[in-house]
Amino acid sequence: MTQFRPRGAVAPLRRPASTPRRPSVDAVITSLRPEEPLHCLRPAAVSAAARAFVAAFPGDVLYAVKCNAEPTMLRAIAAGGVTHFDCASEAEVRLVRSMFPDAAIHFMHPVKSRAAIRAAWSQAGVRDFVLDTDSELTKILEETEGGAGDLGLVVRLALPKGNAAYDLSGKFGAAPEDAIALLRAARPHAARLGLSFHVGSQCCDPAAWTRALALAAQVIAVAGVAVEIVDVGGGFPVAYPGSEPPALDTLMDAIREGAALLPEGVRLWAEPGRALVAGGASVVVQVQCRRGDALYVNDGVYGALSDAGAPGFRFPHRLVRLDGEAAAVERAFTLFGPTCDSADVMRGPWMLPADVREGDWIEIGQLGAYGTALRTAFNGFDRAHVTEVSDSPMLATPGYEAAAARAA
Ligand SMILES: *Cc1c(COP(=O)(O)O)cnc(C)c1O
Repeated sequence: MTQFRPRGAVAPLRRPASTPRRPSVDAVITSLRPEEPLHCLRPAAVSAAARAFVAAFPGDVLYAVKCNAEPTMLRAIAAGGVTHFDCASEAEVRLVRSMFPDAAIHFMHPVKSRAAIRAAWSQAGVRDFVLDTDSELTKILEETEGGAGDLGLVVRLALPKGNAAYDLSGKFGAAPEDAIALLRAARPHAARLGLSFHVGSQCCDPAAWTRALALAAQVIAVAGVAVEIVDVGGGFPVAYPGSEPPALDTLMDAIREGAALLPEGVRLWAEPGRALVAGGASVVVQVQCRRGDALYVNDGVYGALSDAGAPGFRFPHRLVRLDGEAAAVERAFTLFGPTCDSADVMRGPWMLPADVREGDWIEIGQLGAYGTALRTAFNGFDRAHVTEVSDSPMLATPGYEAAAARAA
């Protein structure tokens, strides 16, 4: 068992040199009776999801590191056949390079510090950079000394507001006419020129990719310059209670349909985050107090459960009680996190046995994406146990098992 470090410290956790047989979640709870949040990592599930995505996607797969930068997860992703990483900060670049000397690292944040560009280019061997303004193009060219004939430049295209769970249209991306100008401006400096977009996270509408690719094709045609790469971004959805996404193959068909509009020979990239790691971690919390329908637990929105707060995501969950049977009848509960902030509430509703009581545990699944990665040390609640388990994800996302089986 290791303790997580506070947020921000992404240095590798120490592991035993040889990986012993992984126990089940229940076995860990039984032996540890954890009074702090217990993070249960499922590296085999992450490798399987990565293998499935790599098999299904008609191009290069870049893992979006921000989604979960746990070294265990990164290793599992690499074991699943992913050799490209989408990094968005100097620290992510450094971490990935320290673990994978041969990986292709792509710096996909449209606004970078000069120091980060310089370090990525000269120390980490990063060759591909994204941009959505003229000034960023200037910065990249200055800090890479013109790119030395090996610079990849990717223009991020803004999309009209879509219907993803997380809309990302407001912050980054160049409007089509600006993207056209940027493609033309970047072309003479680029050994590889690309166009990218992001449809928004947890996007359950396959047509969003088809529409975005049609727009990309239009932008490329009007720009009138050769483009080698089109990056369809991330946003690939996973299953949550009450939200069954389209199957992986359906999404890929929509991408193929849109990609048919692109000039011949364009290489596709994708930047999945959530889709590769969501099923790869659960967190076991303990009930510290019950007041009616309210359960006060030891993790919350400042810990791994931020998406269960204001964003209102629902997560698969189950009660674990070691001494005695829980009631068969369920009812709806609200969870409160451990901090003193009244915003530290996860409304669910969380369906649990009606007799939940202090000391019970609740295992909450699908937290491998934007769960463990978003923890903070707020109010002193940054301690957690982390362990690797053999359990499957608590919810399967349609199409992944079949794609992984085809790949095996
Ligand atoms: C966050 C992000 C991703 C990953 O998104 P998911 O919804 O987790 O797949 C990919 N690309 C960019 C540019 C991002 O900002």
